[in-house]
Amino acid sequence: MGKILGIIGGGQLGMMITEDAKKMPDEISKVIVLDPTPNCPASQVGAEQIIGDFKDKKSIQELAEKSDIITYEIESGDSDVLKSVEKDAEIDPSPETLRVIQDKFLQKTFLQENNISVADFIEINSIEELKEGLKKFGYPALLKARRDAYDGRGNYKIDEPSEMEKAFDYFKGQKLMLEKFVPFKMEVSVIAARNKKGQIKTYPLVENIHEKNILRQTIAPARVSEKISTQAEEIARKTMSVLKGAGVFGIEMFLTENDEILINEIAPRVHNSGHHTLQSSETSQFEQHLRAILGLDLGSVKLVKPTIMYNILGSAGFEGEYKPIEISQENVFLKMYGKKISKPQRKLGHLNLVAKENESIEELIDKIEGLKEKLQTSPLN
Ligand code: AMP
Repeated sequence: MGKILGIIGGGQLGMMITEDAKKMPDEISKVIVLDPTPNCPASQVGAEQIIGDFKDKKSIQELAEKSDIITYEIESGDSDVLKSVEKDAEIDPSPETLRVIQDKFLQKTFLQENNISVADFIEINSIEELKEGLKKFGYPALLKARRDAYDGRGNYKIDEPSEMEKAFDYFKGQKLMLEKFVPFKMEVSVIAARNKKGQIKTYPLVENIHEKNILRQTIAPARVSEKISTQAEEIARKTMSVLKGAGVFGIEMFLTENDEILINEIAPRVHNSGHHTLQSSETSQFEQHLRAILGLDLGSVKLVKPTIMYNILGSAGFEGEYKPIEISQENVFLKMYGKKISKPQRKLGHLNLVAKENESIEELIDKIEGLKEKLQTSPLN
C-alpha cells in the first residue's frame, strides 16, 4: 500500500513534487498539500488541498492526521508545531533540522561550528551592536533578517555610516544579523540529497545568475574548473553529513575572487536552481526528494546534457491576468505553474533549454537571449 504524502506549501515546488509522486503509485497513494491560496499550483495537478496558513497549528495537525509522511516546499513552517505532530506523521527533513536552517544566524553558527566556511557574521540586537559590527567588518556590509526572508527581501546593504540607522529601522524589531560583504565572482549551488539510510548524493555544481536578488538563470554545469566543482560538491557532501535529516537540500555558495567557496544559504527543500534536473539529469530533484524521504536508494545524479534554466518572472509595471506564454521549439521545455495573476517579479514558470549534440553553453546563452522577448508577461485583454 502506498503512503499518503503531506506537503506544507502547494506552490510550484509542491506542484512538481506532486507530479513526480504521481509517477510512483506503489510508494505514494495520495498527496495532500497545505496552502492558503485556493486552487494552488499543486492542487491543479491532482493534490488534495487543505486551505490554511503554513504556520497554522490546527491546519498542520489536520495535515499530520491525514498523512503518513510530511515534507515541505517552504522553510517557514513552525518547527515547534511540526515537532508536536511527529507522533502522527513522519516529518522529513526533521523539525530540528528545519529549526536550525530557518534562522540564518543559527544556520551560519552551525556551519561555522562544523568547520564549513561562511562569510564573517555577528548577531545584532541593538544599534550599538550594529555600529560595532560595521567598525569590524567595514563597508559595504549586509544587515539581514534572521528569519522569513526570501529572494533578498530580508537584506539591507549598508554602503556607508550614514545608512546605518535607516537600515536598522527598516527591519522594525525583527531579529537580525550582520554579515561581511563577499565580493564574489560567481554564485553557484549544489543540489544535494540524503536518504533515510544516510546515503548522500550531490548533483554537479551549477552557476546562478540573479537579477534584483531573484534567481533568473541557472547554467548547468557551472563554468568553472573541475577542481572547483569537485571542491564545492565536497563541501555540500560534508554539509549533508552534519545536517542529517532526509531529503533534497539546495546549498547556495559564493565563489570568491581567489577561488574560495563560502556557503551563503541552505534551503531544506527542493530548490529553484535544481529545476534544470527535470530535463538535464537522470533523476529529477523532485523524484530524488521523494526517494530520499521514502527510504529508497537515491537515483543517479548524472547530468546528461548541459542545460540552462530560465525563470519566467512577472514583468515590471503590470499586475493582472496575462496572455498565455507559448514556445514550441526543439529542446525547449516550458513549464508554467498555473498562476492566473502576473505581478512584478512573481515566479510564473520556467523553461529548460537543453543542449543539442556539441552545442556549447555560450550558444545556449545566445538562444536564451533570443527567447526573452517572448517570455515577458503582458495583459490578457
Ligand atoms: P540571501 O537572501 O541572503 O540568500 O541573499 C540574496 C542575494 O544577496 C544573494 O544571492 C547574493 O547575491 C546577495 N548576498 C547575500 N549575502 C551576501 C554577502 N555576504 N555578500 C555579498 N552579497 C550577498
